[in-house]
Amino acid sequence: MMIEEKSLNFLEEIIEEDLKAGKHVSIHTRFPPEPNGYLHIGHAKSICLNFGLADKYGGKTNLRFDDTNPITEEAEYVESIKADLHWLGFDWEEERFASDYFDTLYDFAIELIRKGLAYVDDSSSDEIAATKGSPTVPGIESPFRNRSVEENLSLFAEMKNGKYQDGEKVLRAKIDMSSPNMHMRDPIMYRIRHAHHHRTGDKWCIYPMYDFAHGQSDSIEKISHSICTLEFEVHRPLYNWYIEKLEIFPSHQYEFARLNMTYTVMSKRKLLQLVNENYVDGWDDPRMPTLSGMRRRGYRPVAIRNFCDRIGVQRRENIIDVGLLEFCVREDLNQIALRRMAVLDPIKLIITNYPEGRSEIVMGENNPEAPDQGGFREIPFSRELWIEAEDYMEVAAKKWFRLAPGNKVRLKNAYIVECTGSKKDENGKVTEVYCTYIEGTRSGQDNSGLSVKGTIHWISVDHAVPAEIRLYDRLFKVENPGVEEGDFKDYINPDSLQILTNAWVEPSLTAANPDDHYQFIRKGYFSLDSNKNADGKLVFNRTVTLKDAWAKEVTKTKK
Ligand code: ATP
Ligand code: MG
Repeated sequence: MMIEEKSLNFLEEIIEEDLKAGKHVSIHTRFPPEPNGYLHIGHAKSICLNFGLADKYGGKTNLRFDDTNPITEEAEYVESIKADLHWLGFDWEEERFASDYFDTLYDFAIELIRKGLAYVDDSSSDEIAATKGSPTVPGIESPFRNRSVEENLSLFAEMKNGKYQDGEKVLRAKIDMSSPNMHMRDPIMYRIRHAHHHRTGDKWCIYPMYDFAHGQSDSIEKISHSICTLEFEVHRPLYNWYIEKLEIFPSHQYEFARLNMTYTVMSKRKLLQLVNENYVDGWDDPRMPTLSGMRRRGYRPVAIRNFCDRIGVQRRENIIDVGLLEFCVREDLNQIALRRMAVLDPIKLIITNYPEGRSEIVMGENNPEAPDQGGFREIPFSRELWIEAEDYMEVAAKKWFRLAPGNKVRLKNAYIVECTGSKKDENGKVTEVYCTYIEGTRSGQDNSGLSVKGTIHWISVDHAVPAEIRLYDRLFKVENPGVEEGDFKDYINPDSLQILTNAWVEPSLTAANPDDHYQFIRKGYFSLDSNKNADGKLVFNRTVTLKDAWAKEVTKTKK
């Protein structure tokens, strides 16, 4: 028996009814990407839905590459899609390609010709467009519409055998040129494309249209619930028409609203432009909404799955706040990220009463949220430390609990120090800060009774490991770049990447690898990039800030 914690979404309702009514004994879904780009977070929603439903109802999900357009598809994309699906945590029942069905689809076309339901049209694409009519004006029937079955069969065979040039002829379904649904006005089934296909090579010079391939592929695979995004709703009558006329397995199509997210573009065509025109550093740039970008940035698959679960499925278009995705990422990383210290914008702190040449090891907790996760790490401490420049103020502001002459702060995991002053260069820029430490205040052994309001992080100068740190912000300046006037690229945020090249991290981070997740204390969540920088330094990407800095920014500007 199923225990229901949440109310069912509309697809679950449909499936439960179908199972109850005996319409299907088991359910079979598919995820059908076109291999013309990398998967993005929108695809993740579709993946979680298709695999999630099959999983919930004991069914199966196929991965089917919708590779009917030879022009835009590449094998590289096929590989990246499989890798991303595995990374996200899903495994498919069967791997199929729409191109596996080219022979069957060709036979289906012949069957429709034989039934008098398809014809070869010599009209040019312009002529076809011009005679389509409009939703309120019926279309005009093609002069080639009433060719005999024999003539159609021989012309279609000639099309297949390469007798004609691209665009010279098409095969159309003979439906209804005055249908209120434009997709039913004798839609094109096959077009001529003398192009090399990534799998079938030069075997074919005619290729089926999406509508003629998709439903039949579903049917061949006995997909019970074919789930797609809302823009295909108007294609559904055609989907059903082909299946009905061919009398094949009755797959059904159901539509849900695609995921749109603020400050993001999601169409592969646009993402490809960002890549090709070097606005980003490849499909896996950490600012991209692609799964590979998110992986490189340090998102974990579980956070993405939780996000998809939280947003649910709707039947109406909407736009989801990217802050929700970041919330899910933080929520996950807070549980598992190892706490470390890193100084992003360093200035030197000298503890004048700590003996030169001496050092000691202090202990830092790996993760207070998960004390069983390996306890503590060793951190070297010495007389000279790197601290954040922003943690020192020459003249303390009101409520300033960090370093300023006369202020006491705790050095995280180590001693309480009292600031005694600083040194400046000829331009008045502070170059060194001085303090004295108070014996008997070491963390874990503190019996001084002293308490201070501020705690700052630090790295021992002699033990510090140099690093480059990359901070990311939204790739777009406006909430919905996809619908703004003009070119979406005009809305790119010029400050979406900030590179800090003088950072220092604690020595334990030399053992980091790209699958590890860290919280740099007070600075956010970070993970190691798979590449070092030009100087051979470790590179850390900020996955997400500790708090939603953006929400604060927005309220500030609204005030
Ligand atoms: P794009 O416009 O980004 O190229 P697409 O729909 O052409 O997207 P496909 O590779 O054809 O991309 O999509 C594979 C599956 O993922 C389809 O079922 C599609 O409906 C679904 N999908 C694509 N984008 C989204 C999205 N933003 N939200 C939910 N599902 C999506
Ligand atoms: Mg598509």
